[in-house]
Amino acid sequence: MNPYYPLVSARARHACEYCRAPEIVFNLSFEVEHITPQSRGGESTENNLALSCRSCNLYKSDYVSAVDELTQQEADLFNPRRDLWDEHFSIVEETGEIKGLTVSGRATVLRLRINSTAQVEARKQWLRLGLISQR
Ligand SMILES: [Zn+2]
Repeated sequence: MNPYYPLVSARARHACEYCRAPEIVFNLSFEVEHITPQSRGGESTENNLALSCRSCNLYKSDYVSAVDELTQQEADLFNPRRDLWDEHFSIVEETGEIKGLTVSGRATVLRLRINSTAQVEARKQWLRLGLISQR
């Protein structure tokens, strides 16, 4: 296990810092993710690490930016250590989708496939069970 896991997981309150997936309903610990990838010089330090579900980490891969469909602007991906989730995203409880509120939020939703069918179907269940919320 990553030596930073206990700190990173507790700091994130055991939820994916990108899509808010609740770690408690998974049968495997979430991943300690490098916000700036190691391949781009990102270090294994507390302020460059985030808790991520498998889906978000898989699609984030080595990316640090993506294009916002709305403005066609290249934007930095959401940075959980620098940015506030509520300023960049909101959960649409009726559909289970996460809406990007900023260029960075929208670019992150797209790059990390936060509204993939599997993600949205799972999120609806987490919402139903009260395991995920806006805060
Ligand atoms: Zn996630």
